[in-house]
Amino acid sequence: MKVKFWGTRGSIPTPGKGTVRYGGNTPCVEVRLQNSDLVIFDAGTGIRGLGDALMATGASVKAFIALSHPHWDHIQGLPFFKPLFISGNEFTIIGHQSRGLTLRRVIGDQMDKKYFPIQLNELKAKITFCPVKEESLKVFNATLKTCFLNHPTFALGYRREAAGHSLVYISDNEPFDREVAKSLKNVEKQIVDRYAASQGNPNQRVIDFVRGADLLIHDATYTPEEYVNHVGWGHSHYLFSLEVANSSKVKKLVLFHHDQSHSDDKVDEILQKCKREIQTRNYAFECVAAAEGIEMEW
Ligand SMILES: [Zn+2]
Ligand SMILES: [Zn+2]
Repeated sequence: MKVKFWGTRGSIPTPGKGTVRYGGNTPCVEVRLQNSDLVIFDAGTGIRGLGDALMATGASVKAFIALSHPHWDHIQGLPFFKPLFISGNEFTIIGHQSRGLTLRRVIGDQMDKKYFPIQLNELKAKITFCPVKEESLKVFNATLKTCFLNHPTFALGYRREAAGHSLVYISDNEPFDREVAKSLKNVEKQIVDRYAASQGNPNQRVIDFVRGADLLIHDATYTPEEYVNHVGWGHSHYLFSLEVANSSKVKKLVLFHHDQSHSDDKVDEILQKCKREIQTRNYAFECVAAAEGIEMEW
């Protein structure tokens, strides 16, 4: 399995001198199996660069785009993904649809005339929409599993498995606290119910989903201090990301969805703190921070 990061930033693009090393584009991760079958996790602004790289090969593209959820930072790059404008290319867009809106509308509405000059139905590539709930799909002869996370309205986590290798992508996920969730208007009842049904640690279902993964890409938006003022925003502090990685016995954790206010130096500092915690607590996994352009292969 091979992974390349095209966008690592959460919430809003952050270009500038302070974000050169870890990157300013919003989430997009390219995942390929050995035979190069392409699955793209999320379509934040990072997908523009991936599109340009695909165009440069001159080959036609057949790929799956798996969206965690339709918050801006995860879909905003799609209208700038050039391969969608080329006939002969084929894309299947995977995502959850809710509140009576089809997945096609959820994605297409951001290209409505009010917001964008070209509409979804004008794109030349063949686009198929694949709405999912929690399930296991066959994607290019390998498995893609989904899991609902703890995020306002919803967000999906994805697990890609092939030939004994596994990767889990969890871009937006918050430590679950039942009492806090009940008091928040923006957490849907279905999510509260889903977690209320889990026994013991309400985060256990996510941990079970992640269990044994070779690589876990996980939300690490906040420091624990920052999290105190952002409860209910749907994101993790890095100590929680470490806890998920340890409890699920992953081999490697990638800190992802960096906060828009964090400079490269701040991300360095968070990574160093994580490494210290891992040592102090005798955790057994490797930890890195996602940076635009880096590749991993195993
Ligand atoms: Zn996000
Ligand atoms: Zn979100």
